[in-house]
Amino acid sequence: MRSHLLNDGTADAYRLAVTQGVERMAKKIATTRRPFTGVTPDELAPVVSAVDLDQPLGDTTAALDELERLYLRDAVYFHHPRYLGHLNCPVVIPAVLGEAVLSAVNSSLDTWDQSAGGTLIERRLIDWTAERIGLGPAADGVFTSGGTQSNLQALLLAREEAKTSDLTRLRIFASECSHFSVQKSATLLGLGPDAVVSIPVDREKRMRAPLLAAELASCAADGLVPMAVVATAGTTDFGSIDPLPEIAGLTQRYGAWMHVDAAYGCGLLASPTRRHLLDGVEQADSVTVDYHKSFFQPVSSSALLVRDAGTLRHATYHADYLNPRRTLEERIPNQVDKSLQTTRRFDALKLWMTLRVMGADGIGGLFDEVCDLAAAGWELLDADPRFEVVVRPTLSTLVYRYVPEAVTSPALIDRANLYARKALFASGAAVVAGTKTAGRQYLKFTLLNPETTTADIAAVLDLIAGHAEQYLGENRLVSA
Ligand SMILES: *Cc1c(COP(=O)(O)O)cnc(C)c1O
Repeated sequence: MRSHLLNDGTADAYRLAVTQGVERMAKKIATTRRPFTGVTPDELAPVVSAVDLDQPLGDTTAALDELERLYLRDAVYFHHPRYLGHLNCPVVIPAVLGEAVLSAVNSSLDTWDQSAGGTLIERRLIDWTAERIGLGPAADGVFTSGGTQSNLQALLLAREEAKTSDLTRLRIFASECSHFSVQKSATLLGLGPDAVVSIPVDREKRMRAPLLAAELASCAADGLVPMAVVATAGTTDFGSIDPLPEIAGLTQRYGAWMHVDAAYGCGLLASPTRRHLLDGVEQADSVTVDYHKSFFQPVSSSALLVRDAGTLRHATYHADYLNPRRTLEERIPNQVDKSLQTTRRFDALKLWMTLRVMGADGIGGLFDEVCDLAAAGWELLDADPRFEVVVRPTLSTLVYRYVPEAVTSPALIDRANLYARKALFASGAAVVAGTKTAGRQYLKFTLLNPETTTADIAAVLDLIAGHAEQYLGENRLVSA
């Protein structure tokens, strides 16, 4: 069994095994004809259950063949141009290379003595990102597992900076389109059930700053503490960007922490043409960025950036076995002092390889392409009498629904759209997402693949219309 340990004696076995896997994936990627096969949990579960985990195959080829049946054949492939579902991106090759390297070395970024140069590379990327945001000379941050964790840590810092022992008095303000991790974080941080104040959005799905001002005023009048305002720069559904400069002014006036959730919109930081859409982000106290969304990085790759490095001390604890206090005096860089995690992947290497091979403009250019595609997709939808589209996109999502002229029952239209989404998924021809707006069922394209064309969008719209019409044909008499 020693032959399976990666070391100086097994370097050839490593090369062979990984090459086999890469060869198989290369073939797979090249021959994927649809984003999904439409397999159901009921079909796949018995195949996975039938594997006897106590009876190893002992052989790489056999294990890969088995994996083909359990996973690879039916996986959901984000690189396919007709995957238009959630906020998942096709990945860039330099990042995948970084992934292979970081797994083989297996650095852990909690301490210098488990990572050495890895720590310095992560720090450079944090500085690079903070500089692109414009957070100033005292900025710092840390890589995280994802936007959810970044938001949680940001709100932890905000809670501690609020310096109030009565947690029930703390309030967080976020738009009604903000990510659900804001609410989750509030609960995890021990705040009261009413802690998150939902601010209505305008027609463009941006937080209405005057209503935020009113809520902040009444919070102060009630003797409550405005702990934080979460501005979303790229809402998950609409890609809308809250008015950052106005929000910055209000947070300053009320002494609230300004957190910008740019999990989605962070791609603009590298955009050669759209960086201005993030104007105002430089005034934030903290910013969430998800490189695994709009920087075309493999999951996971995310970071939390802060304006004032000192605020990260709220996540600092010392352990004699890991990062004793003396390491501070000895100026040994231990990233665990800034992180909610202990053992932590060297995810930063993926972004590093990406920037070293392609450069920031290369990544930003790809993000620009999908934003352009969304604009073209909006034109298609707006001109198509079969569909209604909610907002003109700022980033790369389109929220729309099929609305046949002849059908007047809103409930029936909801069901037809839901049916179309499910039928499309079951066919595997394309994957789209869904969401609700004003209580009604909508469909959503999240466009993060520069290989997707307007012809793909048009073809998927035809498929959706076909499924919805079929449903209406079968159900009109029963339900209308
Ligand atoms: C995706 C998303 C998150 C959560 O990020 P994960 O990486 O999925 O944990 C947070 N906020 C917004 C606006 C998002 O779109």
